[in-house]
Amino acid sequence: MNFAIFNKENEKSEKLKEQIKERLLLSRLNIDEENPDVVIVIGGDGTFLKAVHHYMNKLDKVSFIGLRSGSLGFYYDFVMDDIDAFILSLKENAFTTSKHHLLECDINGNIIYALNEVRFENPFHTFACEVFINEEKLEKYQGSGLLVCNELGSTAYNKSLGGAVISNDLPLLQLTEIATIQNNVYHSLGSSLVLPNDTVLSFKGDFNKTVIGYDHLTIDSNHAQTIRVYASKKTITLLKPLNSSYIKTLTRSFVK
Ligand code: NAD
Repeated sequence: MNFAIFNKENEKSEKLKEQIKERLLLSRLNIDEENPDVVIVIGGDGTFLKAVHHYMNKLDKVSFIGLRSGSLGFYYDFVMDDIDAFILSLKENAFTTSKHHLLECDINGNIIYALNEVRFENPFHTFACEVFINEEKLEKYQGSGLLVCNELGSTAYNKSLGGAVISNDLPLLQLTEIATIQNNVYHSLGSSLVLPNDTVLSFKGDFNKTVIGYDHLTIDSNHAQTIRVYASKKTITLLKPLNSSYIKTLTRSFVK
C-alpha cells in the first residue's frame, strides 16, 4: 500500500509530517505522493478540503484519513497523541470505510465538485433566483444567497446558517437559505429543505454579481443563467478507526 502525506503549512503540521514519514518508512510502508492508495491529511478541516481537491482526479483510487494537528477538525478521528495507534492501524489496514457522493455543480458546462457545499452569495445586493427541484418550481428566492450541502457538509457552513445536521450514513442533499428577505411581497420556504440524493436542484437567475463558492474555493459564474447542483457519481472514501463513532465526533466538535 502506498501513502501520501498532505499537511497544513505550519510548523506543528510539518513536524508531525516528518514524524509520520519516519514511522511509515521504519514500518516498511511506501510513500508515493503522486499515486497513493491512502492520503494521510495532517491539519484541520480546511486542509482536508484542500487535500481532497488536490487528488480530485484520483478519487476512485484514493482513500483519505485525517490526523488532526489543531483543536478543530470534523474530518479527523486521530489526534497527535494517537500516533502509535494511527501507525498500527495503517500497518494492519484496520479501518472502517465510508463512501460519500461529492456534490457536482454545472455552471454553463463548467463542472465543479465539492465535498462540503456549493453556495451562491451576494452580501451587498439582493440575490434573486428561481429554485427548481427536479424541474418543478419551488419558489422565487430573494436574499443574500443559497447553499446546497450533502451529509458531510451539513456540519459546516450549513450548520452556522441553522441547517440540519445530517448523520453521515444518510446520503442526502440539503438546500439552506442565507439571510432570506421575507415580507409581504417576497416569500420563500424559510427553512432548510432536505432532499433525496437523486434530486437535481436548478437555480435560474443572473449570477454575474454573485460569488459562487464551493468548499474553500470560488469560481466565476461564466454568465450562467441556470446552475444545476446534484449528487455526483464521483465518490470519496474515508477511513476511520474501527471504534469511530459519529455521535462522539458531534459531541467533541460541537458540544464540549
Ligand atoms: P477552515 O478550516 O477555516 O474551515 C472553516 C470552519 O469550518 C472551521 O471551523 C472548520 O472546522 C469548519 N468545517 C469545515 N468543514 C466542516 C465540516 N464538514 N463539518 C464541520 N465543520 C467543518 O478552512 P476554509 O478553507 O475556510 O474552509 C472552507 C469551509 O468553511 C467551507 O466549506 C464552509 O463550510 C466553511 N465556512 C463556514 C462559514 C460559517 O460557518 N459561517 C462561512 C464560510 C465558510
